[in-house]
Amino acid sequence: MKEKLEAIRAKAEHDLQEAKDKQALEDLRIHYLGKKGELTAILKQMGKLSAEERPAIGKMANEIRTAINSELSKRAAQLKEAETAKQLESEKIDVTFPGKRRSIGHQHPLSKELDEIKEIFVGLGFDIVSGPEVEYDYYNFEALNIPKDHPARDTQDTFYINDNILLRTQTSPVQVRVMEKQKPPIRIISPGRVYRSDEVDATHSPLFHQIEGLVVDKGITFSNLKGTLEIIIKSMYGEDSVVRFRPHHFPFTEPSAEVDIQCFNCHGKGCRICKGEGWIELLGCGMVHPKVLSNCNIDPEIYSGFAFGMGLERLVMRKYSIDDMRLFYENDTRFLNQF
Ligand SMILES: [Zn+2]
Repeated sequence: MKEKLEAIRAKAEHDLQEAKDKQALEDLRIHYLGKKGELTAILKQMGKLSAEERPAIGKMANEIRTAINSELSKRAAQLKEAETAKQLESEKIDVTFPGKRRSIGHQHPLSKELDEIKEIFVGLGFDIVSGPEVEYDYYNFEALNIPKDHPARDTQDTFYINDNILLRTQTSPVQVRVMEKQKPPIRIISPGRVYRSDEVDATHSPLFHQIEGLVVDKGITFSNLKGTLEIIIKSMYGEDSVVRFRPHHFPFTEPSAEVDIQCFNCHGKGCRICKGEGWIELLGCGMVHPKVLSNCNIDPEIYSGFAFGMGLERLVMRKYSIDDMRLFYENDTRFLNQF
């Protein structure tokens, strides 16, 4: 029996050293010290021993029980320590490791320019008005003196919802809507998206942006138009900007003009930016056609006004010498990050 006890002690010691986790330790405790455990089984046979043998064997069995118990708690402590060390290792932070930078977006060049332009107009007392992009034929064409058979419609082909509803080709319908509702004095700009059924290329897109302006009041003359636009252009391109007005034709203004700015790069000599012309076309403008005023129930005998319109993309393209309009819409961050 003594040998058996020695064997149990040796085996238990070995098994405990091998135990890999808490569960394994618990299993071993039950295996050796449990009610049906190996050591318990030996103790149950004590009755068979002689009176001389019993105390010595009993003492030995108790010693082994104590030894196994203390080995169990020692091993448990070791395992716990190892686990903690492993956890610390896995949660270790390497402060020298490069961080992940969350990239923050910024304004699109078109929005940036538009905000700057809006600011200039607000400073001059203009209101900013928006209107529907899905528009009635009447507001987009008829009310602006462009009847069904007018040739101007050919250059402004658009996307039709039905015979009477279309995607607006210009922001001018907003002017009509304002004049219908509001009595003069009127001083507004209406920036926004417009649509044309154009093939996509470097200078055409089915969607682009216009900024239109309208001033209607008593006694508005062409000199008001020239003065206002000169102030605006100088605010946009600098005090030393040189501006010229060229006669032009628009159905909704009379007289009409196109406004050029002397090339800010070559100052009139001719360069790549102005395509050798020395001047850069900036916007179209004119005195509001009396017919447009009366279409909107404003008496052209009492009131007069001027209107102007410019393409936002073209302004930004010139400002930064961008030669392809498509870059604005492709969302390529290599392009957008340059602004
Ligand atoms: Zn030039």
